[in-house]
Amino acid sequence: MVAVGPIPRHRTHFSRLGSGPLLLVLCFVWSCSGQTEPSRLPEVITVVSGDGQSATVGEQIIGVFQVRDPRGPVTGAVVTFLVTEGGGETDLSRATTASDGRVQVRWRLGSEARNQRLVARTESGHEAVLGATALGVAPAQISVTPSRLSGFRGNIVDSTIWVLVVDAFGLPVVGEPVNFRVVSGNGMLAGPIISTNGDGLARLAGWRLGPEPGVQALQVSSGQALREIEVMAVEPPPTHFNIDVRFVGEVSAEESTAVHRARKMWESVLLSELPDVTLLQSPDPSCPVQSGETIDDVLVFVSFGEIDRSQGGTLGLANTCLGRAETGLPLVGWFVLDSEFILEGGWELEDVARHEFGHVLGMTRSGPWARQTGGPIFAGEGARQAYMLAGAVSLPLPAGCPGIPQPLSCDGFPPVDPSSSHWREDVLGTELMTPTGSVGPEPLSAITVLAFRDLGYVVDEARAEPFTLPALLSSLVPPSLRRARDRVQTVPVQFVNQAGRIVR
Ligand SMILES: [Zn+2]
Repeated sequence: MVAVGPIPRHRTHFSRLGSGPLLLVLCFVWSCSGQTEPSRLPEVITVVSGDGQSATVGEQIIGVFQVRDPRGPVTGAVVTFLVTEGGGETDLSRATTASDGRVQVRWRLGSEARNQRLVARTESGHEAVLGATALGVAPAQISVTPSRLSGFRGNIVDSTIWVLVVDAFGLPVVGEPVNFRVVSGNGMLAGPIISTNGDGLARLAGWRLGPEPGVQALQVSSGQALREIEVMAVEPPPTHFNIDVRFVGEVSAEESTAVHRARKMWESVLLSELPDVTLLQSPDPSCPVQSGETIDDVLVFVSFGEIDRSQGGTLGLANTCLGRAETGLPLVGWFVLDSEFILEGGWELEDVARHEFGHVLGMTRSGPWARQTGGPIFAGEGARQAYMLAGAVSLPLPAGCPGIPQPLSCDGFPPVDPSSSHWREDVLGTELMTPTGSVGPEPLSAITVLAFRDLGYVVDEARAEPFTLPALLSSLVPPSLRRARDRVQTVPVQFVNQAGRIVR
């Protein structure tokens, strides 16, 4: 007797099993067609295409699945479809696989969730899942992060401002222009129109507050959605930053005046009162400071003499030699100026001194500068916004990062010279902290001042000198200008804690 029940796995054809009536009954049960019955080996269903798409709500996407068993694609398998997340719908609730084992479904995305799911299931219960991201249709609401903002008057706001644009269902609207407009306070904006990214987010390129204290505001709009961003602009505190200059060896009146003028410029933009440190130990002899000395806020040894006049010459040499363990900011540093070479070449002693102070105060590979310098860019937010406001936002080159080979994404951050602790000369031109000294003005720009804020100082950017990026990249600087570099020494730096002990 043949059992009627679960379908046998390997069945070829019926041989004669007995009498006519029995054969008729079996033929009824098994549908005797005279052909070989398909076997039912374990089946799996997989997604062939269509997974991971993004589409706006109500838009259709196509998913293709395939049912296979160990022998290959299964023809005629029944697949059912069920939307499990997002509230969308399919054109079919079930379908049968074609001769290649494939089945196709059209899926219209719903409005109930950003991440949506469609499950395809075989009769044997095996499942494959198609995922899709639903995007909003029309801007309906704008939210801003962070919700509380502050800043010094005349300075760039001290946060990255993100704007999220969603539709009436709360789904992010992608690729939608967001307009920014100053409505009070006379601030300056870089990039008044920014498009939302794949998450519905737009990052404000840059906002420098106007010169008066008080509430200042931006209006943000996208489609019909509108919002205001308010910042309380406050007066910066008076500076308490003290650079203690100690000359080593002979110094002329001209040299002394130049160094002290450079010192005063840095003391006017850096406002931090850093904790005094009384050294309990003397550092390595390369750092000429002794145990028992109290330092407030930075001690800089300055000397004059020939450095290296070959290969275009070296104007200066600088380094930090003792850093603060808690913040990485400098405690003791030094620089040397080749004043004879500087003056003969037509450079200004004061400009070179200002540049070397910039290294000692933070732009060295030993301190926080190195931690913020990721690959070809400086990753601080203040410097990024200042760079945008200096003109990077409208540079006709990719991603606000000219000259840097794609596909590196610089995302609007200022580019650094990878071989030294400087900005890139071919992008920032004559800015004070590019590697070569130029004859003529070298402004201490807001980009550098805000980089120091990113390093951990309190700064007043309103005291930076006016600077805009060269309209044409400065590979076009007239060759008649004499240019020479400086060097930042790269000897390891020691770090001392607030109690005065050398800890590393
Ligand atoms: Zn330098």
